[in-house]
Amino acid sequence: MYFEITPDEDFIKTDGVPGPTKHEIRALVISKTCLTDEDVVVDVGCGTGGLTLEFAKRAKKVYSIDINPDAIQTTRANLEKFGVANKVELIEEEGLQALDHIEDFTKLMIGGSGGNLQNIIEAGYLKLPVGGRIIITSIVLETATESVEMLKALGANPEVVTLNVSKGTVLDRGVMMKALNPITIVSARKE
Ligand code: SAH
Repeated sequence: MYFEITPDEDFIKTDGVPGPTKHEIRALVISKTCLTDEDVVVDVGCGTGGLTLEFAKRAKKVYSIDINPDAIQTTRANLEKFGVANKVELIEEEGLQALDHIEDFTKLMIGGSGGNLQNIIEAGYLKLPVGGRIIITSIVLETATESVEMLKALGANPEVVTLNVSKGTVLDRGVMMKALNPITIVSARKE
């Protein structure tokens, strides 16, 4: 079954809630997640629900966590808009605390951690089964380097990719390219 990546402009947005993660970034995150319809995904820091929506289309179940009630409401609105709300449990809580009571997930996405990154990676990685995957997206370099250090300390072999995407606007006089902010994706398989 083929699922498209939802266009950025189709999401319901709320002032003060970040996301959605841009279309091209979502496509690569889906690929790094190696998602199947048997997967149970945890999305820490779901924001607008950009990644949660892509996971919900393809996985068996998704737990989406955000500390910001507006993010939970916005994610809910987007899941309802696209008809996949039944696959997702929304949890308004800090990520590390929420991970304490979620069991049996196979893929872990961290898109927001608010100063708790290393603890969230450690707690989440330890709960993944062997062969599970962890993915961290970062707009700040330190998030990526801290993730790499933590994953190495846990015995994983992290992969690091920075996406520098430029999108074209087709004008009468030609195609004008505009750069998006670079995003770094750190990912690893649970060993
Ligand atoms: N991937 C999302 C955007 C994520 S923005 C999308 O595609 O729409 C990052 C989110 O992480 C924000 O909504 C923020 O409230 C949340 N966040 C930051 N620190 C957090 C923490 N410790 N626990 C839970 N959520 C957190």
